[in-house]
Amino acid sequence: MRTGTTVLGKFGRHAIEKGSSMTALPSTVEMYDLRMSDRAQPLYEAVKRFIAEEIEPRTEEFFRLGEGRADHWGYGEGQLELLDSIKAKAKEQGLWNFFLPNAETGEGLSNLDYAYIAVELGKNPIASECLNCSAPDTGNMEVLERVGTPEQKEQWLEPLLRGEIRSAYVMTEPDVASSDAKQLSCRAVRDGDEWVITGEKYWSSGAGDPRCKILIVMLMTDPDGPPYRRQSQILVPMGTPGLEIRGAMHVFGEDEAPHGHMHLRFNDVRVPYSNVLWGEGKGFEISQLRLGPGRIHHCMRSVGAAEKALELLVKRGLTREAFGKPIAYLGKNPEVIAKARIEIEAMRRMVLTAAKAMDVLGNAEARVWVSAIKAMVPIRTCQIVDEAIQVHGATGVSQWTPLARLYAGQRTLRLADGPDEVHWHVVGRAEISSMGEAAQGYNPKDAYYEMLEAHAGADHSGIFSGP
Ligand SMILES: Cc1cc2nc3c(=O)[nH]c(=O)nc-3n(C[C@H](O)[C@H](O)[C@H](O)COP(=O)(O)OP(=O)(O)OC[C@H]3O[C@@H](n4cnc5c(N)ncnc54)[C@H](O)[C@@H]3O)c2cc1C
Repeated sequence: MRTGTTVLGKFGRHAIEKGSSMTALPSTVEMYDLRMSDRAQPLYEAVKRFIAEEIEPRTEEFFRLGEGRADHWGYGEGQLELLDSIKAKAKEQGLWNFFLPNAETGEGLSNLDYAYIAVELGKNPIASECLNCSAPDTGNMEVLERVGTPEQKEQWLEPLLRGEIRSAYVMTEPDVASSDAKQLSCRAVRDGDEWVITGEKYWSSGAGDPRCKILIVMLMTDPDGPPYRRQSQILVPMGTPGLEIRGAMHVFGEDEAPHGHMHLRFNDVRVPYSNVLWGEGKGFEISQLRLGPGRIHHCMRSVGAAEKALELLVKRGLTREAFGKPIAYLGKNPEVIAKARIEIEAMRRMVLTAAKAMDVLGNAEARVWVSAIKAMVPIRTCQIVDEAIQVHGATGVSQWTPLARLYAGQRTLRLADGPDEVHWHVVGRAEISSMGEAAQGYNPKDAYYEMLEAHAGADHSGIFSGP
């Protein structure tokens, strides 16, 4: 008989050596209490009211003011004034900077409390920005808050927290598979008290916005160092000589101006040595710090997007008839609606549990939870939006509903912040590792015959006999 260890081979042995708790997703009893705190409840109600009364009625106007603007990479007349007036009201009412978990700046909400609010923000395309909770600024602010020097905070974090400027996060490169960030090759070389930066980056979201003043750039600073110590993150102000904007990447044919996902070239760009964040070689550590919350915020907003899509699907299905029936009742549509509702609730609970895991276990320990929701939520939300488009007929892909924009956002989220496969890999590997000792010696054939021998003389007819 072959032993379990032999059968398991190299990877199984690795799992056994690591040992652990029989599931990829660590949990504690506390993690299953998903109630919003008493403190957050009134804030949550106030956010919902603010979106309904101040943001929803002006969203269409915001986009209309931008149409036919003179400067394609700027804002239309009155557009920023409208946005700023909503932002000022939100700030005045204390509905501002919710995203910084347990921090002194902002509301200091837990990840769990923020998750409830972010779901609401995900239902409207400008709500996040109106409350100063939009990506990529949230991730960048969190990094600056956690690891910035007092000078870096004063220069960049403060105006970001006040919502006066915007920022971009610059990691992905056209010439290397960037889901493996060890391969990034854009180079920063120290020259006295400066960095000299050379290389190319693309998909720098938000770098097209005229209000974007600062980039956080992931760069190779020590090509010969240990693989996870080769990269650093360095602050590069927009407008630094040598920083060239080559153009915008298009998302399904749209350049998404003025936000933009920019293609950048660094031609011997010089910035002070002190612009490095947290110290040389800390690039990967900062990424972990940034991407955990960033990913979970995306997923929270995605649940809101799925909720919005289902709402529109049902409304349209009930108010339009074909073949003598409301479309909602035609064919398999009731099943489509049922599945969407069931899966939205499953996603909501997964996201809340992942948020609670971050609160209870810390960002590092909750890493697999975050991967699990990043692997689950955008792909399913994308399908729900697609179904809502289908029920709307041609109107679904038009400018009359937010569905086309929601679809593009969710589809691209399956790539941004790590493609689905990377997150499946993280969860799958953790699940295999967690089996540990329990897999050793697993042999169903031997177990079956041992069971028969143990019960010799008994009537075995029917046991595993099949049809
Ligand atoms: C709308 C949008 C906004 C973005 N914003 C930003 C931004 O602001 N800043 C920024 O730096 N980047 C941004 N990105 C880029 C994004 O982060 C990258 O696209 C992502 O990290 C993947 O890198 P890549 O495109 O080089 O794909 P690659 O690394 O070339 O991967 C290609 C494919 O290979 C497969 N693959 C990769 N790894 C595995 C694996 N382990 N197992 C199985 N299959 C695998 C997957 O199918 C993957 O999609 C944005 C992208 C989009 C679409």
